[in-house]
Amino acid sequence: MTGGNALRCPICPRHCRLRPGESGFCRARANIAAEIRLWDYGFLTALALDPVEKKPLRHFQPGRQVLSLGGYGCNLRCPHCQNHAIALAGRGEAPGRFYRPGALADLAAELVPRGNIGLAFTYNEPLVQYEFVRETATLIAERGLRNVLVTNGYAAEEAWLGLLPLIDAMNIDVKTFAPERYAELGGNLDVVRRNLELAAAVCHVEATLLLIPGWNDSPAETEALARWLAGVDRHIPLHITRFFPRHQRSDTPPTSPEVIFARTETARRYLTRVYPGNV
Ligand code: SF4
Repeated sequence: MTGGNALRCPICPRHCRLRPGESGFCRARANIAAEIRLWDYGFLTALALDPVEKKPLRHFQPGRQVLSLGGYGCNLRCPHCQNHAIALAGRGEAPGRFYRPGALADLAAELVPRGNIGLAFTYNEPLVQYEFVRETATLIAERGLRNVLVTNGYAAEEAWLGLLPLIDAMNIDVKTFAPERYAELGGNLDVVRRNLELAAAVCHVEATLLLIPGWNDSPAETEALARWLAGVDRHIPLHITRFFPRHQRSDTPPTSPEVIFARTETARRYLTRVYPGNV
């Protein structure tokens, strides 16, 4: 809490200082009735039963499905955002409907006969729905089901540690391995590195690197990421995926499959499980 009526959000390193009625950078959280909370608790813009491999997770419950949900908002600003319609949306700007955590847990359990393992918090950045994710994940765990988090990993450490005990598997989207380019997105590489290390100590972690031509696709950058990741655990799966023109990078050409395969080979010098994606 700060002076006056402004409050600080504890969820991500931005620690937005919000006056009454003001939204945070992520556009999902706000100072409402003297507390920082979601504008729309339980509002989902997407809900679908997806293969686990689509998250992507290659070494966690392969061949199974996971009920996947997303809301709106994000605490980064990637010009190449592949989900910008919901990630950059604010209140009332994306269609959807409200679900109670209990109803979602019931639905996840009903879908077990169809191969469902639990719930995945994905599509937009789930960290900005922090309290909703925690409450829903708690109910999923109580039913003996699994929780999956697909995230940019840009969380304040206390909030991150508060979530980890509930999460069985996650994919962390490492945007770049260059600190100055992380800053361009409004993030911080050191925070993401630290959070990945913390997560890898307690749950199944896979990482994704979306290769954007001319931005983060140099051999040296992939090599630096792979070398560091191997220092955490050389068996952490790394997905090196292909970019397609989107949002403010609609003029950037798609990543060539040849570059994806070449960087995959580079990373395989350090890591045992590296996969080309979207090729
Ligand atoms: S989660 Fe949203 S409101 Fe909270 S600090 Fe981060 S950007 Fe700001």
